[in-house]
Amino acid sequence: MTSEFDIIRRYFTRDSSAVLGVGDDAALIEVAPGHHLAVSTDMLVSGRHFFPDADPFKLGHKSLAVNLSDMAAMGARPRWAALSLALPEVNELWLQKFSEGFFALAGEFNISLIGGDTTRGPLNICVTIMGECKPGEALRRDGARSGDEIWVSGTIGDAALALAALQGRVSLRPDELAHCEQALHAPQPQVGLGIALRGIATSAIDVSDGLLADLGHILARSAVGAEVYFDKLPVSELIAARLSDASARQCLLAGGDDYQLCFTAPAHLRPQVLAAAGSLNVRVTKIGRTSEANGLILLDALNRPMDVQTRGYDHFA
Ligand code: ADP
Ligand code: MG
Repeated sequence: MTSEFDIIRRYFTRDSSAVLGVGDDAALIEVAPGHHLAVSTDMLVSGRHFFPDADPFKLGHKSLAVNLSDMAAMGARPRWAALSLALPEVNELWLQKFSEGFFALAGEFNISLIGGDTTRGPLNICVTIMGECKPGEALRRDGARSGDEIWVSGTIGDAALALAALQGRVSLRPDELAHCEQALHAPQPQVGLGIALRGIATSAIDVSDGLLADLGHILARSAVGAEVYFDKLPVSELIAARLSDASARQCLLAGGDDYQLCFTAPAHLRPQVLAAAGSLNVRVTKIGRTSEANGLILLDALNRPMDVQTRGYDHFA
């Protein structure tokens, strides 16, 4: 018989940088003097955020990656994580692979797992991430000013295209699917970029629910509008080749799960934006500008407003 405590000890207890880590009633952490603690939680539910038979290594990676992405979007330096797991049964191989995936990414970013909860129930993975940022340096959603340039890191749409293919809504060749599945199952959070954009970006968000919806959150919180140029949106060759297809456009504009950063910065700081991204070898693309007007206007290559009927992902819509 494997007990709850065996699971915690075997799979989730590692050295940590905390004052007190796994094993007591609460962890104790010491935040760097004069810093704020940035805290965020993201939950992955079986059948909703991932297929029940998903590869456990990739699930371990992704459950931490989506949380790291929130730290990236704040410009915070992630340091600690708590992991709450509901498991239908004790599956040693699953736990081994899941924890390997989780700790592989944690190691990359020097994250300590400092606590959590383990219980029986329908498979559910909830991670709380904690990080540090200096007061006044966090990249909030409410800082965009009219006339700022709007940027996106990496390429977007591939993760949603993979999901569409796995659900049988579009058909892809096996090599194409393999490429997009990487974006869907193994997103690389832009932690370095978020930190490098401190003092440069006026606002930021990670693209988890779809570009237009997530940019819309920045616009609403900052009380500005935006013009976005459709033909400037950074896409992979796969999406580029399919842009005449409505479902590919939907993936690009409203597909979630890419975990790239969308951010705004004043036009005169463009060289700093490019230098920050360039030093990290991250591609950033200017996709538009914020405006005084309300709402978001998507313009085609001839500067004509496009009909935007796409919405981002909403669990209750
Ligand atoms: P309590 O009964 O006080 O809630 P638990 O028995 O649930 O404590 O947990 C024991 C210790 O193991 C605590 O330090 C808790 O934070 C940690 N823990 C439980 N589950 C996990 C997990 N999945 N990953 C990391 N730490 C965990
Ligand atoms: Mg508990």
